[in-house]
Order: sequence, then C-alpha cells, then structure tokens
Amino acid sequence: MFFDYHLHSHFSTDSQMNMKELIESAVEMGLDEIAITDHHDIDYKDDTIEFLIDKAQYLSELEKMQNKYKDKIKIKKGIELGVQLHIFEQCNQYIADDFDFVIASFHTAEKKDLYNRDFFAGYSQWEAYIRYLKTVYAVVKAYENYNVIGHLDIIRDYGDYGSKADLMENQEAAEIIAEILKVIIQKNKGIEVNTAGYRIDGRDPMPSFKILRLYKDLGGKILTIGSDSHSPDKIARKFSYTSKKLQEIGFKELATFNNMQPEFHKIEDFAL
Ligand SMILES: [Zn+2]
Ligand SMILES: [Zn+2]
Repeated sequence: MFFDYHLHSHFSTDSQMNMKELIESAVEMGLDEIAITDHHDIDYKDDTIEFLIDKAQYLSELEKMQNKYKDKIKIKKGIELGVQLHIFEQCNQYIADDFDFVIASFHTAEKKDLYNRDFFAGYSQWEAYIRYLKTVYAVVKAYENYNVIGHLDIIRDYGDYGSKADLMENQEAAEIIAEILKVIIQKNKGIEVNTAGYRIDGRDPMPSFKILRLYKDLGGKILTIGSDSHSPDKIARKFSYTSKKLQEIGFKELATFNNMQPEFHKIEDFAL
C-alpha cells in the first residue's frame, strides 16, 4: 500500500498543478491511492487572495477523474478546510456529507493570517506560538466536522523569529499540545503527518516527531500521511524515511478514509 493524503490541484489558488497531471504523476510513482485536498478557506483574512472552491464543479471533476482512472488508482474526494472559531456553521454547510476526507487546517488565528505574518505583529515568538495553540485548542473542543488536523505545528514555519523552535521546548506550549491531542483522541479524530514540514529545518515533518511521540503516548491511533504537494515533483516526498521513523515511535498503522470513516493499513506494508 502506498498513498498520499494531502495534495493540491489547480482548484487551489496557490497550485498550478492540473488535476490530471497530478493523478498521472501519482500513477507513475506507483501510488495505490490519493486524496485530493484542495483549499477552501472561508473568510480568509488576506484580502489580496481568495481560497474558495466551487464545490459542485470540484466534486464533478473529481468524479470524472475517479472514473477515468479507476483501473489505475483510487482517488478520494478530499478538502483542506481552513477552520476558524467564527465560521463553524458555514464549514458544516460546505462539508455536508459530500467528502471522503476532510483536513482541518489553521492558516489563520485570531482572525489574522499566518502566511502573510499579520498574526505575529506585536507578539514575541512564544506569545505567538501559545496564542496560536490556544486557538487550535478552542477549535478542536468545539468543532467536529473533519477527520484530521493538518500541519498541527505550522506556526513554527511562519513567524520570522530567526530560530524555528520545536513547540515542545516550551512547557506551557507542550501542555496545551497535550490537551489538544487528548481532545482529538477522545473525539475519534486524528492528525496528519505532513512531509512538507521538512522544508523548515530538514529534520521534522509537521507536526514534529516530538509531538508525534506524545500523540502515540496519549493513545493516538488515527494518523494520515500527506506531502502537501503543489507540484508533481513533491508528491510523496520523504515518505519512506517518514514511515520508518513512525514505526520507530511505535505507530503500526496509517489511515485512509472512505466517506469520512477510517480504514487502517500496516505501515510495514507501506513502501515506495
Ligand atoms: Zn495548509
Ligand atoms: Zn495543503
């Protein structure tokens, strides 16, 4: 088994990768299954760019591709949903029961964008990290309509503080992360391992191995793997290395999703 559960096609504003090109690259690499997870960010806080998808058009394109490639690869209807505390109702309406797999991601916090750095203004590094984590905690306590939290510690990628500290280095941050993970586990949700994270310092995916170890220790079982590719050359990047590290931590299985329900696959069968 070999699958990539975080991929962006041209339906995402920040991706040039045609859906067909994406699928054909995945087939060529020998993937058995992919989830296409384009961006839908309601009330995104950077006015210069919009991350919204016409759902009917997106789903119809996905269905067309599912059919066209049905003998070559399984394609799941996914979405990367930007979550914020004030948009739960709109998120629920959008998701309805139309998707196989939903990644809930934080691209904003406190109604400010992370990527364009608005969120960080006036905060020290750890203030920003802790405020971000408190937002994540508030959302996971109240919001249910997703399967995994995307790139949980993405905050370390964006603040321009010089160092890219692991969030587990700070006691208060580590305590909030533990509370976040407990809620996720208790609600039968999961997290993703996002291998785009290696771009930060070459050492860790998102979240870091330290956070993944804590998730395992707390009883976390639902784990997906995704490359967050916006171009064909990044599909399944560092999956072999990452799956070995996950096994060292003690994870035995990775999940795929069907109609929002997890199916588990042995990591030892996961190979390029
Ligand atoms: Zn994202
Ligand atoms: Zn993404």
